Amino acid sequence: MSEPAGLGRFGEYGGRFVPESLVPACEQVEAAFREAWVDAGFRAELHELLTVYAGRPTPITPARRLSAELGLTLLLKREDLAHTGSHKINNVLGQALLARRMGKRRLLAETGAGQHGVAAATASALLGLECVVYMGERDVARQAPNVRRMRMLGARIVPVGTGSRTLKDATNEALRGWVADTAEAYYCIGSVMGPHPYPWMVREFQSVIGTEARAQVETVPDLVVACVGGGSNAAGTFTGFADTTARLVGVEAAGGAAMTNGTPGVLHGYHSMVLQDENGQITEAESIAAGLDYPGIGPEHAHLGAIGRVGYATVGDAEVVEAVHRLARTEGIIPALESAHALAWIIREAGELAGQTVLMTLSGRGDKDMEMFE
Ligand SMILES: *Cc1c(COP(=O)(O)O)cnc(C)c1O
Repeated sequence: MSEPAGLGRFGEYGGRFVPESLVPACEQVEAAFREAWVDAGFRAELHELLTVYAGRPTPITPARRLSAELGLTLLLKREDLAHTGSHKINNVLGQALLARRMGKRRLLAETGAGQHGVAAATASALLGLECVVYMGERDVARQAPNVRRMRMLGARIVPVGTGSRTLKDATNEALRGWVADTAEAYYCIGSVMGPHPYPWMVREFQSVIGTEARAQVETVPDLVVACVGGGSNAAGTFTGFADTTARLVGVEAAGGAAMTNGTPGVLHGYHSMVLQDENGQITEAESIAAGLDYPGIGPEHAHLGAIGRVGYATVGDAEVVEAVHRLARTEGIIPALESAHALAWIIREAGELAGQTVLMTLSGRGDKDMEMFE
């Protein structure tokens, strides 16, 4: 997949819709990333961290028993085995290294389920940066184990009490925090969203998933599937297969399906498909998987959907819970609820996919979700 045109344009989506006061900060991040991404030294340092610290490359596991049951060949790209338990570490290590290179002292991050916050706190501890995590008050209460992990890693949590007191509000507050402190703070966004250059930069940092997978499979799979919240694990995966014949499918949560049920609009600094009412008010997403509980989707996905290169589908909470149990019992892998969305779709479509080779990105492990299953 290519670099966006102009100010981060993917077709008609993307861009940089931020207050005047944040334009220089975004430009600074863009210039630093452009320079770093073609610097062999930066790339080598990131590769080193991904390898000796984060545990890459992650393997591809053939799901043999489940494949036999479904009548297809299912291959799992195991991001659940990366340090901190999901793909989020790939992006955060890249941005934390960039922040240090820019001379910043502090990483600001927003988080919903806490997975991005934990990854940001982890990378900050590793590189000796301060970490401030903005989190909706409701999520602070719902995701107590991840709040404890972040505090243990030395992060300061800022509970956000405005609006619905969830991710959307935490993101607004984090942007405000950045406006107040652009000299010392670096804003570390957790998915392929936000103002240019973030959607492009985060995709580049996550492209390691697809690049590895492409080299690990013997032949190009018929189908490549990933779950989509903001869309970073999917974008990173698709990068490895966009120029092949593989069919690409992104699976959204039925209650947070910005691509399937949204309309074009602006959210958190970018133009994309968003869930909104007829007055342009952002509506609440509602999913069992906190990581998919977001009313927008990255602008490159909106573009890839518009041109038909990627297909988007939705699954409901009940199918997802069933998919978690199914993978646990057949393969001894407990997936994150987010990742189980991709699997639920494959299970539902198995009849149509008979005989095909399907590569699925298992974006994270399910330990964080155990309370749901008591
Ligand atoms: C955050 C998260 C997601 C959703 O984010 P994307 O940017 O869409 O990848 C999916 N799976 C897991 C395990 C997550 O933590």
